[in-house]
Amino acid sequence: MFYRSRSNLALWFTLTMGSILVIFAGVIYYQAVSDELEDLDQLLHKKSKVMAVNAKYDLRKQRIDLENVPILGSNVAPLGTEFVYARWYNAKGQLVQFFGATPEAQLTINSGFHTLKAVSHSSKGVPIVTWLRQLTLPVYQDSLLIGYLQVATPLEETQNNLAQLRLVLLLTVPITLGVIGVAGWYLGGIAMQPIRDSYNQLQRFTSDASHELRSPLAAITSNAQYGLISQSSSLEMQRQRFEKIFDVARSMNTLVNNLLLLARHAGRLPAESLQPVDLKSEILQIADEYTTQEAAKHLNLTYTLPTTSVMVLGDAKLLRQVVLNLLTNACKYTPAGGQVHLRLLTQSNWAVMEIIDNGIGIPNADLPHIFERFYRVDKKRSRKTGGYGLGLSIVQQIVSAHGGQISVKSIVDKGSTFQIILPLK
Ligand code: ADP
Repeated sequence: MFYRSRSNLALWFTLTMGSILVIFAGVIYYQAVSDELEDLDQLLHKKSKVMAVNAKYDLRKQRIDLENVPILGSNVAPLGTEFVYARWYNAKGQLVQFFGATPEAQLTINSGFHTLKAVSHSSKGVPIVTWLRQLTLPVYQDSLLIGYLQVATPLEETQNNLAQLRLVLLLTVPITLGVIGVAGWYLGGIAMQPIRDSYNQLQRFTSDASHELRSPLAAITSNAQYGLISQSSSLEMQRQRFEKIFDVARSMNTLVNNLLLLARHAGRLPAESLQPVDLKSEILQIADEYTTQEAAKHLNLTYTLPTTSVMVLGDAKLLRQVVLNLLTNACKYTPAGGQVHLRLLTQSNWAVMEIIDNGIGIPNADLPHIFERFYRVDKKRSRKTGGYGLGLSIVQQIVSAHGGQISVKSIVDKGSTFQIILPLK
C-alpha cells in the first residue's frame, strides 16, 4: 500500500515537473529559433541596403545603373557575404540583372523575408536540399520605386546552431527527468513517513488493545464456565467467582473508558469546549477527596497552593483526569510511609503543576517510553496494581490538547517529579 502510494506520488511529481520542463525546453527552443532568424534577417537587411544605395536610376534615360552595386555590378568588390544569389527587378517586376542561379523573368514573390527550399544536384545526380533565407527589398530613389533587389543567404549556419541546441536539449531533458524521478521517489518517501508512522502506531495500538482485552475476557469466561459446570453448592465459592468476574469487568471498563478517552481527544480541543477553569480549586477538591481514599491512606499526601486562583482555559473534566492520573500513579508507586506532594504555582504566562513523590522512581532507560500507549516499566507489577500503561499517555494527550507540556524527572528509589505547564487564561 505504502509502496504503491509512494510510486504514485513519484510518478505524479515526475509527470508534473516533466511537463513543466518540456514546455520550458520548447519555449527556449522557440526563442532561440526566432533570435537566430532575427540576427540573420538583420544582417541580410543591412547588406541589401548597402547594395541598394549603390543602384542609380537615370530619370531622363529611364535606365537603371547597377555598375556600382556590389555582387551585381562589375565595378565593386564583393560584400564578403555568402549570397547564393542576387537579383535586380525593375519597378514592373521584370528581371534586369542577376548573380547566381537563373531566376524567373518575372518577380513572383512579395517583398519581405521568406524561407525557401532549394534543391540542387550533386555531380552524381543526387538531389541536395538546402534552406535559404531570402529578402526581397523594394528600392526607392526620391520616393520613386526604382526596382526590387532580391538576395538570399544559406540557412546552414543557423540550422547548425539550432541542431546543436536541439542536441543539448535532447540530452539534458531526459537526464533532468531522471533526476526529477529520483527526487520524486525520495520526496515521496519523506512524505509517506509520517503516514507510515501513524499507521504503524495505529496497528500497534489495535493489537495492544486487543491483547489487553483478551486476558480479562479469558478470566471472565473461565470463571463463568467453572461456575456453570461446578457441582459445588457452596455459596461462598460462587460469591468469590462473581467477585472475580466483577473485578475483571470493572478493570475492563476502566480500560475501555481510557481507550475512548484517547480516541476522542486526539489533537487540539475545539475552542467552544474551552471554559475558564480554576486549577487551584480543582486540585484542592481532588486532593481533599483523595486523602481519605484507600489508595492514599498508606502515605503522607500534602499540597502547596497559591493564595489566588489560577485560571486556565480548558475542559475541567479532562484537567481533573490529568491530576487524578498523576496522583494515582504517585500513590501507586510510592511505598507505605512515603510522601506525595502536590504543588501549583504560576510562572510568567504559565500555570505550573508538580506532583512529587519519593517512591520507587523510574529507570533512565524507561523514561523516554513511559508516555507511550500500553508502556509499563514492570508489566508484572503494573498488572497487580491494575495499570494498563495508558494513564500517562492520556495525561500527555490532554495536556497537549490544552496547549501545555509535560515533563518528568525521576531517580530510582528516590522518587519522581511530574511537571505540567499550561497557558494561563
Ligand atoms: P500504569 O497504568 O501502568 O500506571 P501509566 O501510563 O500511568 O500506566 O504509567 C506508565 C508507567 O510509568 C507505569 O507502568 C510505571 O511503571 C511508571 N510510572 C508512572 N508514574 C510513576 C511514578 N510516579 N513513580 C514510578 N513509576 C511511575
